[in-house]
Amino acid sequence: MSALESLAELVRFAPDVYGFRWVNHVAMFIVTDAGVVLVDANGQVNPRTPHLIKEAIRSVTAQPVRYFVYSHSAFDHSTGGAVFADTAKFVGHRNTVEPIKAAKDPTTPVPGIVFDAKTTLELGGRRVDLYPADLSATDDYIVVHDPQSRVAMFVDLMQPRNVPFRTLLGHPDRIVERLRWLEDTLQFDVIVSGHATPQMSGTKQDVAEQRRYYGDLTDAIATARAAGLADGSPEMVTLVRSVLHPKYGAWRRFDEFVKLNVEGMIAWRAGKAPAAH
Ligand SMILES: [Zn+2]
Repeated sequence: MSALESLAELVRFAPDVYGFRWVNHVAMFIVTDAGVVLVDANGQVNPRTPHLIKEAIRSVTAQPVRYFVYSHSAFDHSTGGAVFADTAKFVGHRNTVEPIKAAKDPTTPVPGIVFDAKTTLELGGRRVDLYPADLSATDDYIVVHDPQSRVAMFVDLMQPRNVPFRTLLGHPDRIVERLRWLEDTLQFDVIVSGHATPQMSGTKQDVAEQRRYYGDLTDAIATARAAGLADGSPEMVTLVRSVLHPKYGAWRRFDEFVKLNVEGMIAWRAGKAPAAH
């Protein structure tokens, strides 16, 4: 295998909608005649990434960033927005405020525009709709939607050909409802995940495949229970793995996360949210 690896990339998802990638994290920005809306700074893995994003934006427009939107509070995505504080207002779900405040990181401003119901940013005659994902009581993920360009962004939850992260990022029933809403209601052609491996964006087809994984995982656990296997036991995990493998074995982190996915599915359904992610 070649040692050549692309570390950074500027891509266009649609006219005026771009992504900037550093290794496996992707920020999205929307250019309007009155400024730029940017989602995430991704400055934890590499503190210079926010500066690269700022320069990437400058390479396609002279407009300043007017809104900096937090996709959620996790620091691999949220860190480093202060680079845009000269021109930007900071926007996030109400539940992002406490974790960002508690981190006391001067490079990561606490959002001043907070919301817990659908809200719309208007800039240069364009709208960007922000929808809380509502995956649990403490959830702070949002879905970002640019209806004009038919681009959406749902960080972490909608990574094509990746199994869900660890013990699931919210209640599985809420996640499935949210993915169904993406499929059936939200108008988009491209969905951006905030990550790049194996691909930076997907389509409604990828959303449907992601949703089916949760259903297939649920069914596989039911099959294991019907065979008398104890919840979370190695035998259950082995059976679930073998049931899911034909369809999902090639998905990223299948081997790493199936056991945690089983544990998470059981814990959320039992009303016990797994330890915070
Ligand atoms: Zn992530």
